[in-house]
Amino acid sequence: PAAASDMAAFGSEHVARGVSRLTSNVLKKGSGSYVWNDQGRKLLDLTCGIGVTNLGHCHPRVSQAAHEQIDELVHAQCAIGYGEKYLQLIQAMLPTFAKIDPRLDSMFFWNSGSEAVEASIKLAREVTGKNNVIVVQGSYHGRTYGAMALTKSKTIYSERQGPLMPGVFVTSFPYYSQLGLPQSTPTKDLVAQSLHQLRLLLAQQTAPSETAAILLEPVMGEGGYVPAPPEFLQGLRKISEDNGILLIHDEVQSGAGRTGDFWATEQSGVKPDIMVFAKGIANGFPLSGIVSRKEIMDQQKPGTMGGTYAGNAVSCAAGLAVLETFNKEKVLDNVAARSKQLFSFLEDLKTSSPAGHLIEEVRGRGLMVGLQFKRDAVSGDSDHAATHAAWLVDGQKREQLAPKISKKCAERGMLILSTSVFDVMRFIPALNITEGELDEGCKIFRESFEEVAR
Ligand code: PMP
Repeated sequence: PAAASDMAAFGSEHVARGVSRLTSNVLKKGSGSYVWNDQGRKLLDLTCGIGVTNLGHCHPRVSQAAHEQIDELVHAQCAIGYGEKYLQLIQAMLPTFAKIDPRLDSMFFWNSGSEAVEASIKLAREVTGKNNVIVVQGSYHGRTYGAMALTKSKTIYSERQGPLMPGVFVTSFPYYSQLGLPQSTPTKDLVAQSLHQLRLLLAQQTAPSETAAILLEPVMGEGGYVPAPPEFLQGLRKISEDNGILLIHDEVQSGAGRTGDFWATEQSGVKPDIMVFAKGIANGFPLSGIVSRKEIMDQQKPGTMGGTYAGNAVSCAAGLAVLETFNKEKVLDNVAARSKQLFSFLEDLKTSSPAGHLIEEVRGRGLMVGLQFKRDAVSGDSDHAATHAAWLVDGQKREQLAPKISKKCAERGMLILSTSVFDVMRFIPALNITEGELDEGCKIFRESFEEVAR
């Protein structure tokens, strides 16, 4: 076999170039908050494989459940019968949705977030008999054909792919950078501005009689790690209800404990008609799904939903173990404590670091935390527009800091991602990360930030 170091070179030769990759580590092993590469180097993982391994890599309960399921039944095809674990997982998940709305009682499982998002749109179109869908600026819903048309966070995701799925309209999101307003703008003004834009959209571009759904992430993920203010979600609920439009919450990234509640929607008091989930729900096994009210789901004709691997038995067994772990290991208590620790580190960095003036905002909920660097105006540099828009800071063109800090952290043995066109670092550690591990991560981050910002 090729020497370990040759494998990364092999990857660069033979793996599709269309994947943007943070590092060229050949990942071999994972446990809790750490992964190891094929050279035996240990790396602290603050990415959780993009918000997936929320309980840490290879959580013993999840791994054991998957092992047992592999020996029992691997493929319980959803169009042939009911998988036993599939049904047990629904039983276990319904109480989590009941906290939002006890009427959310009918479910369907898929493999990826994109598939589940598309399933939610198919459902909304079929049930309402209407075509159009409204998404928000900065949204990310996936890369497959339907989901790509709903994604508005970076042009790279749909460049040269048209014509896209028609009937998608974009409304504004109450995020000061997205609206081009100062960070000090009061939330109520941002919300009022965004709801005004939505009402205009319904009056000028897509009539309620043509609009099937409004789709958004209750905490915007790839678009910059921005929690939607509860008043905005409540406003969307009112406008959608008044106009016979379904409200869909995409909790693919914000769900499964990430924000400190099991679902981010819980705190808002809003009852969406459909919710979409994936990622953390099976801690790394491919599993996604949607939930809605039976009266809505039952309007779909049998045969409209389905897929060969949808709701795979091993993934469902892993999902069950994930829910069991949340119940037995007080995971959400740790999220609250570590969230406090992380926020206080980042707020302190802003005030005490010599480069702290470059930090504009620390935001987020639970362990879905964004750190946004200062920018004054977009430079309009076309070379950078598609991936990392370059910004003007104090009149000078400056490349984004966040992607450079990610690279520095990787050199120092820590994986952490940047996101969005707005120069944002995103912190998504495992929800059961220890105080010591998080401290280690904060230290590496401080050193890398100060080196890059020098
Ligand atoms: N919706 C949201 C909010 C996401 O963050 C993602 C993935 N980052 C998706 C949908 C797409 O999920 P997947 O990559 O599993 O298709």
